[in-house]
Amino acid sequence: MSQRSREPSLEPLVIKFGGTSVGGGAEFVRAARMVADEALGRPVVVVVSAMSGTTDTLLGYAGTTAGGDDRTSTGATREGSLAELHRTLAERHLSAARHAVSEEHLPPVEERIYELLGGLLEAIASGGETPEARRARRAEIAVYGERLSACILAGAIASAGAPAAVAGDPIATDAAHAEAEVDSGRTRERAAGNVVPLLEAGEVAVVPGFVGRSPEGGQTTLGRGGSDLSATALGAALGSREVWICSDVDGVLDADPALVGGARLVPRLSYREASSMAGLGAKVLHPKTMEPARAAGIEVTVRSTFNRNCAGTCVCSREPGSGIRGVVLRRGVSLVRESGVPETPVFRMLGSSGYGVDYLLHAGDGEREPAGHAAVVCVGSPGCDELSAGISVLGKRGITVCWAGLCSDGLLFVVDGDDARSALETLHGSLLGIRSGDGETADEGSYSVEGVA
Ligand code: ASP
Ligand code: MG
Repeated sequence: MSQRSREPSLEPLVIKFGGTSVGGGAEFVRAARMVADEALGRPVVVVVSAMSGTTDTLLGYAGTTAGGDDRTSTGATREGSLAELHRTLAERHLSAARHAVSEEHLPPVEERIYELLGGLLEAIASGGETPEARRARRAEIAVYGERLSACILAGAIASAGAPAAVAGDPIATDAAHAEAEVDSGRTRERAAGNVVPLLEAGEVAVVPGFVGRSPEGGQTTLGRGGSDLSATALGAALGSREVWICSDVDGVLDADPALVGGARLVPRLSYREASSMAGLGAKVLHPKTMEPARAAGIEVTVRSTFNRNCAGTCVCSREPGSGIRGVVLRRGVSLVRESGVPETPVFRMLGSSGYGVDYLLHAGDGEREPAGHAAVVCVGSPGCDELSAGISVLGKRGITVCWAGLCSDGLLFVVDGDDARSALETLHGSLLGIRSGDGETADEGSYSVEGVA
C-alpha cells in the first residue's frame, strides 16, 4: 500500500479553459456542460482565462497613468474612455451570462459582474507613480478579466446541474507583480484553505487563472498565457493526477499551421518534449506549464473544447521513443565567434534549456555576426539518420546549412534567414516520418559538439 500521502487525497481533475473556450455565451454553455459531465464521476477544479481579448483591453488601460488626463490610443478622453470600457465589458459579460446562466442562478452573477466592474474602475483610478506602484496597479487591473469569466462560468456550471462556486485565489507567488514565480509550498496551503473545502462539499471549484498572491497578499500575475501554469501548479498542490488544458485547437501540433501546411496533431509527448516545444515558441502552452506537472508526475492532456471526440495530446514522463515529434522555427539567431577557443571551429549551443535558442557560439575572434540566421529545431529524440537525412534533403532543395547538429531539444539546423520558411517545411515534410532503428539510441553526449559547417 502506498505510504506517500497521510491523508486520503481527492485527486481532483483540473480542467483549464482558454479565452476562446469562454469567448461568448454559447462557449460558456459548452464548457460548463463538459465540466458538469466530468463532475458526475469525480471532484473537478476549473481554471479559466479571461474572455478572449479582454486582457489586451485591460492592459491598454493599465498603460495610462492613474491621475492624469490621459487619452487612450484612439484619443478619447479619460472619463469618456472609462465609461466606454465599463459599457463594453458590462455588455459583453452580461450578455454571455444571460445566455449561459439559468434564471435561478443569474441574479447573483449579474450583481457580481457589476461589483467587479466597479472594482476595476477603482483600480484604474488608484495607484501611485513609483515604478513599483505602477507595476502593482497593472497587476490589479489585469486580473479582472479572469475574475469576470470565473463568476460567469461558475453560474453556467451550476445551471448545467453541478453545484459550483468561485474559490479564493489559491496560487501563491513571490512579490513580482508580472511574471511572478509560483511558491508551491504556500500554494498547497492556500489551496487547502480555499479550494479543498468546496470540493469536500461536493462543489466544482472555479479558479480565475493567471492570478497570484504575493506573500503580503498583494495581487500578482503569472504572465501572459499564465493560466496554463495556474492549472498545473494547482493540480500539483491538490494531488491531482490529471490536468486538461482545453483550447480551440485539437492539441499540440507538429508545426505551426500558420507556417506549414499539413501540420498534424502529436498524440504523445514527454514533459521534456512539451517544454521544448512551448519554450521554443509553440503557442499552445505557456513555457512553464510542465514544471509543476513534471515535478508531481501529473498527466497533462492538451485538447479541444470544441472537438470533444479528439483525444488531444497526452503529456507525461514517458519518452515516446526515438524520432522527431515536431519542428519549431526561431528567427533572429546569431552565429557568434567565441575568442580564446582553439582554431578548429568548435560549435557550441547555449540556451537550449527549453526557453529558446538564443546563441550559437563559434570558435574565432569574439565578434557577433548580424542576426541574419534562423534555426529550425526538430524536437524529439533523433539519431544520426535524422541528422544526415535533414542535411541531405535541405541540400537537395538548394538550402545552405550553416550549421547542423544534435542539441538537448533534438536536432538543430541553422540556415540563412531567407531560407527559414522553406527549411521548416522541408524538414517537417521529410523528418517526421523517420524513426531510428531500435539499436540506434541517440547518445547526446557524443554528438553535442558535432557540427557541419
Ligand atoms: N488572460 C491572460 C492572458 O491573456 C492569461 C491567460 O489567458 O492565460 O495572457
Ligand atoms: Mg494560452
